[in-house]
Amino acid sequence: MRVKCETCGHKALINSRNEIDPKVVDLYCTCTNPDCRHYFVAKLTYSHTISASQLQAREAALDYLRSLAPSERQHLIKQVQIVI
Ligand SMILES: [Zn+2]
Repeated sequence: MRVKCETCGHKALINSRNEIDPKVVDLYCTCTNPDCRHYFVAKLTYSHTISASQLQAREAALDYLRSLAPSERQHLIKQVQIVI
């Protein structure tokens, strides 16, 4: 990940980070331009999902299977085994 100094446009280094919450992190950065040396905070935030996590898909499938009656669950498992 690249961070640019908003003052001079040079590359900046991330010195440390502070997690504000699981989706927001403050990045403490220093500009690498020796004439600038701007020290600043950039904010990194989670925006949105493009493709769902396989971990979430697996949990959703298990939750759905658990919600079914045992006979429905067995029927669905047999259908999956036929496909695989
Ligand atoms: Zn700079």
